[in-house]
Amino acid sequence: MHEMALCESMIDIVEDQARREGARRVLAVYLEVGALAAVDAESLRFCFDAVIRGTVADGARLEIDRPAGQGWCLGCDSQVSIGQRFDPCPLCGSNRVQVTGGDEMRITELEVE
Ligand SMILES: [Zn+2]
Repeated sequence: MHEMALCESMIDIVEDQARREGARRVLAVYLEVGALAAVDAESLRFCFDAVIRGTVADGARLEIDRPAGQGWCLGCDSQVSIGQRFDPCPLCGSNRVQVTGGDEMRITELEVE
């Protein structure tokens, strides 16, 4: 379950940032997980709850946003949105879509006090 490893590196970033901002507590973590990232949101929540225990983010909410994937279609030379990796182009139906974005995970915001 690689979500655990992801959460562990995420909490490192969160603690780092909280320290830099002089926060006493992290109330919420806003996470952007591209639709094409091979990450399961439910596993992520489960792991998040486990790794925040005893940290500055203990009890924090996890807000997950899943923006659509972006791709470049070689069939019709267009920038397209795709819901899943290997989805055909929504414009021309070609399978030659190269993923150009929406496959990453990043922290967009921290709510602290
Ligand atoms: Zn196309």
